[in-house]
Amino acid sequence: MSENIDYAKIIKSKINIVDYISKDLRLIRSGSSIKALCPFHKEKTPSFTINENKENYRCFGCGKAGDIFSYVMEKYKINFRESIKILANEAGIDINKNFKKYKSIKESSDNQKNYFEVMNNIANYYHQNLKEYLKDNSLSILKEKNITNETIIKYKLGLSSNIDKLINYLIKKNFDIEPLVKLGVFKINNNGKKYDMFTNRLMFPIRDRLERVIGFGGRSLDNSAPKYINSSENNFFKKRNILYNMNNLKMMKTREHSLYIVEGYTDVIAMEQNGYNAVAPLGTAISLEQINLTWKYVNEPNITFDGDKAGVNATYRALDVALFSIEPEKTLNFIFLAEGEDPDSLLKAAEGRVRLESFIKNKLSLIETIIKSQITNNLDTPERVLAFKKKLLNKIDNIKNTEIKNLYKLVVEEKIRETLRKSIKATNYTLLNTNKDNQFIKKFKDRNEEQFVLRRERSILGAMINNFNLLRDNDEILAELYFSNKELSLLRDAIIDIISQEKVKKAKELKDRLINRGLANVIKNHFITEDCIKFQLKENYAKESTNISDAKKALLDIVLLQEKWYEKKNKSLSKISQKL
Ligand SMILES: [Zn+2]
Repeated sequence: MSENIDYAKIIKSKINIVDYISKDLRLIRSGSSIKALCPFHKEKTPSFTINENKENYRCFGCGKAGDIFSYVMEKYKINFRESIKILANEAGIDINKNFKKYKSIKESSDNQKNYFEVMNNIANYYHQNLKEYLKDNSLSILKEKNITNETIIKYKLGLSSNIDKLINYLIKKNFDIEPLVKLGVFKINNNGKKYDMFTNRLMFPIRDRLERVIGFGGRSLDNSAPKYINSSENNFFKKRNILYNMNNLKMMKTREHSLYIVEGYTDVIAMEQNGYNAVAPLGTAISLEQINLTWKYVNEPNITFDGDKAGVNATYRALDVALFSIEPEKTLNFIFLAEGEDPDSLLKAAEGRVRLESFIKNKLSLIETIIKSQITNNLDTPERVLAFKKKLLNKIDNIKNTEIKNLYKLVVEEKIRETLRKSIKATNYTLLNTNKDNQFIKKFKDRNEEQFVLRRERSILGAMINNFNLLRDNDEILAELYFSNKELSLLRDAIIDIISQEKVKKAKELKDRLINRGLANVIKNHFITEDCIKFQLKENYAKESTNISDAKKALLDIVLLQEKWYEKKNKSLSKISQKL
């Protein structure tokens, strides 16, 4: 073959573009044209058209067009050279035989081919091993993690056991073992014996975007430490460039597709088993390379790390890593799970999907997460608010894109104004209706105040939690009201905190947030309820069906009583202090 051999031409002569694309798409022939729903943008009627004679395609919806190479490049987000390799393989052309034009590819591809083949064989070996084992035994971890048979096959999960057996298996398949030592697949101990780190582990093959096995993650079966181990790094396996399940990124049909970046292999599997697309870094902090990889496919991947302290820290680290590089169609969203939850545990629990959906619905944008990461609950003086502002602006300064940076600054200014308004507490409640002839007051006037205080405080909070419109219209009153009961006071603080910081639009969402903040017991203690998860706070005047102005009137009456009581209490306190 000559040096100038045109592999693109040979490949095109061997592969029919229609046949190739028909493996991915359902083609509709109408007359001479062949159409399909476009794989590169979301659409309901087909505008992706293939011209068999011209060997090209064009989408009249999104404008993507080209030949079979562009198609493969677009599909896998790879460059031209890589597309040649894939299609040569598809066409059965051995580009390694005499591939001078792409010499650099040739040199690395010999090693590469060998590496991918051997790793694929190791994966097969582990997988067979697991299938054999499961014939007569069970693995508690599979039950524990709800891993189905289908999943075992889809992810080619495996079981590692004795390394000698594995090496014999590879020798039988004519693989040269020594280079594998160089690549770190096997290691040699002081006695000259080969070993790997995966004895007795559940094996997760890690594949690249072209479905080639490039490494493994192994989870211990007896919870011995370390719980997870990954293959050693080498030229083909660099953790910072790899995401577990990245081979499924091609499932992202549009840039608006929802993709979740979770912490662990079993989180990925749990998410995928429930119909969510997920990837995970390999047990290390997420890198910019990994985030960049997801940005090739979607605009706004969702960071969905564990709900423990480490997970929250990792979430803020991901934010810091991404911050410099964000652009209008390259940003992140952040999903905060409840304390102690991860996607895997959450999805296994009762109502798991419903709860996960509510977390997803309340996801925070990047700017909201910056604010959340810096906010403290003592922003009650202008000085503290200004220190808060400074921290926010310092973060935002790291953004390279000036348009985004400037918009974020505007959001911060607004947030600061709002925080200042809330921090400076008014001393008079001019909003309140002070009509002394109010029936409600009369009704309770002569009763012993003390025994009504707790009931009154419960009544106010119960109404506010139950009727979101009532709460939204009267949040400032609630924020400033005195609660004598410490637990109810905490509950009030949490309500104000939630509605001022998070996207909450319904009573149900507020209730979920309160429970997620660990307030289920406070709610149980104070409100009559059969099941605090589905609690009903029955204040007749504040049912969601009640006319809002009637509800508001009733609420203000009760608030007024509380005010009067507090005033009286303070007066008697000041009399005592005058005597002292
Ligand atoms: Zn299109």
